[in-house]
Amino acid sequence: MTRAARLALIAGLVLASGPAAAQERRPEPARLASIEFLDVGQGDAILIRSSEGKVALVDAGPHKDLAADLLRGRGISSLDLVVLTHHHQDHYGGMEEVVRRFRPRVFLDNGSSHSTPHYLRLIELVRDRGITTIQPTDRPRRLELGSVVLTVFPRVPENATDENDNSVGLRLQHGSFSVMLPGDAEREERAWWERQARDLCANCTVLKVAHHGSNNGTDARWLELVRPELAVASVAARNDYGHPGAETLALLERSRIPLLRTDRDGSIRIVSDGRRWQLVGRQVAARAPPAGKVARVPAGHADTRPTGRLVNVNTASEAELEGLPGVGPVIARRIIQGRPYQSVDDLERVKGIGRKRLEQIRPLVTAQ
Ligand SMILES: [Zn+2]
Repeated sequence: MTRAARLALIAGLVLASGPAAAQERRPEPARLASIEFLDVGQGDAILIRSSEGKVALVDAGPHKDLAADLLRGRGISSLDLVVLTHHHQDHYGGMEEVVRRFRPRVFLDNGSSHSTPHYLRLIELVRDRGITTIQPTDRPRRLELGSVVLTVFPRVPENATDENDNSVGLRLQHGSFSVMLPGDAEREERAWWERQARDLCANCTVLKVAHHGSNNGTDARWLELVRPELAVASVAARNDYGHPGAETLALLERSRIPLLRTDRDGSIRIVSDGRRWQLVGRQVAARAPPAGKVARVPAGHADTRPTGRLVNVNTASEAELEGLPGVGPVIARRIIQGRPYQSVDDLERVKGIGRKRLEQIRPLVTAQ
C-alpha cells in the first residue's frame, strides 16, 4: 500500500486501485445518496453526500466565499474529500475558503505543473493544514464514501498547453445509479479516456457536460459511450464564453437527452436510492428507462425539460406507472384500463387523478 493510500485509510476513506475497480460487484444499497450541482456562477462545485455521513466536494467555483457559504447553508460542518479537477480559477477560486472552513481530510488534485500564484497559495494552505494529498495514478483508483464509490480515472499524460485536458475524471457509482464528472476535459482527454478507461465512461445515468457545455466538451461519440439519461451544465447566465455552446445544445437535443443548467435551474440536486433517482425540489422524478421505446422530448424543450426519460402513459408497464408520484397499484391499473390517451390532459378522467396530481405527474409523462 502506498503512503498516500495508508494516510487516506487513516483519514476514513477507502482507496483501491485496479483496472476493474469500478466494475466489480455493485451491491444494491438501500440508503440514499445526494449529488448537488451548486449554482456558483461560471464554474463547477459539486457536493456529494452519502447516507453514511461522508461528504465530498468536487471543485469550489470561481468566487472566494460562495461555495463555502453554500456548504454552510446546507449544514455541512466537515468534508471527507475535496477534489480540484484542474488548476483553473473557475474550479479553485473558492477552494481556499473551503479548506479553511471545512478542513477536508483528503485533497485530490490532478498533479499537473500548470500553476498560478493563487493556486500555489492554496497548495501551501493544504500542506500547512496537514491535509492528505492524493493524485490520480496509472490505474483507476477507488475512493469509498460509504455506499457511494468514486472511481478516479487513471492519470492522463500531461498536456502542457491545455490545462483543461489535465482534468481529473471521476465516475460516481451508487448501486446502479452513476454520474460522470469529467471536469473541463476537451476532445483530446476524452479520446484518451475512451481508449484507456472505456468501461469507466460507459453508461452513466447522469453526465455533467464537460467544460460548462462548451462545444469542445461534448461530441456525438462521447454521448454514444456515456449514454446519459440526463445532462447537467454548470454555467453562468450571459457568460463571456458563450457556454453552453450551440453545437452541444443541438447535439443533446438530437440525442433526446434533457439538459438542466445551473444558470436557469439554480443548484440542481439529485437523490439516488441506488436504483432509482429523483431531482429534488421540482416535483420531478426520473427512473430507469422504460423497457419499450424511449419517449421523445419535443424539439425546443430538450434544454429545459427537467426530467429523465418520460413515462409513456399509453405503453408503460404497471410498475413504471407506480413509480409516478401519488400513483399506487390501483391508479396504475386504472390508467392502463383507460388507454388510449390522446394527450396527458386526458389523465384527469382517471378516477383518483385530480388536477393537482396531474400537475405533479405532467413533467414526467408523455402520451406520444
Ligand atoms: Zn471550467
